[in-house]
Amino acid sequence: MKQLLVELRENNDLEHQLEDILKERDTGKYSHILIHIYSGLEEAQWTEEIAKALRDLIPEAGIVGTMSAGEIMKGHVVKKGVLIGALFFESTKAEAVRFDNVKGNEGETGRKIREYLDSIPDIKAAEFILPGTELETKALFDEISECNKDILIFGGYSGGHAMNAAVHYVFDAEGIKDDSVFVTVFAGRGLHVDMDKVIGWEALGVPFTVTKADGHRLIELSGRPASEIYERFLHIDRRLQNNAQEGYTFPLLAEYKGDEWLRSAIHIEEDGSLNLHGHVTEGMEIQLSYGNPLTIVNKVNERLEAIRQFKPQAVLIYSCIVRKTFWDNYRDLELVPFEKLCTTAGFYTWGEIMRNMKNGEIVEHNVTQLSIAMREGEAPAEEFPQAIADDSVLKGPAAQLKRLTSLVYTAMEELADAQKNLRLLNEKLRVMAETDALTGLCSRGKTEEFIKSVLSDSSSEGFPVSLLMIDIDYFKAVNDNYSHQAGDAVLKEMAALLKELSGEHQGATAGRWGGEEFFVVFPHMDSDKAMEAAELIRKRTEDHVFPEVGHITISIGVITSPGSTYVRDIFTNVDKALYSAKEGGRNRVVKA
Ligand code: GH3
Ligand code: MG
Ligand code: MG
Repeated sequence: MKQLLVELRENNDLEHQLEDILKERDTGKYSHILIHIYSGLEEAQWTEEIAKALRDLIPEAGIVGTMSAGEIMKGHVVKKGVLIGALFFESTKAEAVRFDNVKGNEGETGRKIREYLDSIPDIKAAEFILPGTELETKALFDEISECNKDILIFGGYSGGHAMNAAVHYVFDAEGIKDDSVFVTVFAGRGLHVDMDKVIGWEALGVPFTVTKADGHRLIELSGRPASEIYERFLHIDRRLQNNAQEGYTFPLLAEYKGDEWLRSAIHIEEDGSLNLHGHVTEGMEIQLSYGNPLTIVNKVNERLEAIRQFKPQAVLIYSCIVRKTFWDNYRDLELVPFEKLCTTAGFYTWGEIMRNMKNGEIVEHNVTQLSIAMREGEAPAEEFPQAIADDSVLKGPAAQLKRLTSLVYTAMEELADAQKNLRLLNEKLRVMAETDALTGLCSRGKTEEFIKSVLSDSSSEGFPVSLLMIDIDYFKAVNDNYSHQAGDAVLKEMAALLKELSGEHQGATAGRWGGEEFFVVFPHMDSDKAMEAAELIRKRTEDHVFPEVGHITISIGVITSPGSTYVRDIFTNVDKALYSAKEGGRNRVVKA
């Protein structure tokens, strides 16, 4: 296959200008020819005439025309010109079909297109060229997305050079059709197609969740009017509609189903909702974004390398008008290297269309560059030359912008790292504060907090809670007779015993109160059951053989709520019960 490009001049003889294309066609080597007409003209009349003339000159060719926001010829942008891109195929069938749509019937049109795609043998790819905003595209694409999962789908929306221009048109030799979907299929066993997208816009600031959305209308982000994201971070107020460029250059970035989507904001509605290019879905995570020249260049270079290895015979580009505005005088920077690999044609769109090949969904993208590489037959043995986008050509303000975005993103990354470390450290501190270092039981603070919260639940929900305050008898003697270490070992062993015995009751928690004093909390346990549990703990401790030290005993105070109104009284009363147990001769359980 082969791609030939001609930029037409209005007052010159058309046939003469198309000489190369006609000559190539006359070789008779090709089974199918597909002609793209990319027009930067606001007036469609001449381009319609061209389409008709082309049909007369090459009746067998498929013809698709679109108004373009920048015509890409051999990696350069033509200024409001008319560009003819002719694709010559040796064995591939390339067929252009127009599907007329009746407004409101997009689902039905989509179904027809899907059936058409599925009826083509050996179909590899399909291109969609659509008029701007006339169509309910979500309904259309939801239906088409159900077609054979192997078909690569790409394309773009027509639209003019001016960001605020409402004019756009798509056409073929039959003329302009504002409400039609122009579909071109590429089919054949020998055809290889490689499709991918490049974004390079990166998230800025904090993420938000889409909490209310309706198709292309983003109503709320994290429960607040969506426009606040522009007001708060960029100080762009409700006059965004007069200044739409900013809503375009700072699009919203969504990570969705493992895919990256950008959404340009067209304007802010009276109610604070945002009107977007492309739909959003509730639950999506969204962030503001901005183009990072270094990232863009890196991503373009990755894509160029993939295409180099693919060894194409033609490359098609569908790139967003916003990228053209973003790069300004350097717009060729991310285009020219493609031409180094192979003849490259395409246009700047008002929305890019690409199928997510992982789930089959056809997605509308903004601010994205799509590149489609095609080849008939096996890749040749010889290596293709390396092609790279080079950001070192940026000079003056563009170079400063590159450094500034780099500064912002690096600072943001470092901040994010610092925040992550802080979170980890906080988590560590929290665990430390909540755990008693010697025994691994809950700390005093955590125990107190837990007791208070359980008591509060118990009084609101009306269930009993029992508390056991436990103190080891004559523990000072353990330290004195053996050693402090031996004492520590006893405390650990005691803690393990309490954990084991209280663990039999759901929701029970053991904590160290300090020294040789412990608390066990039994939610949902009445006084009788609590006395039984306490008695069991006392007995099991008495019977237990502590290594080195042998036998020890404990005294326990038991209290069950509701018994006291105040938490403070509960602590005082259980302490009194424990004191009575000591007074009564130790190794016993006393109820408050
Ligand atoms: P009683 O039966 O009246 O409770 O007598 P006791 O000796 O257990 O009571 P007292 O309050 O006089 O002594 C508690 C001892 O616990 C004093 C202190 O040395 C010891 N102790 C407190 N914390 C620790 C610790 O972390 N490790 C060790 N080994 N001993 C501790
Ligand atoms: Mg004590
Ligand atoms: Mg003691």
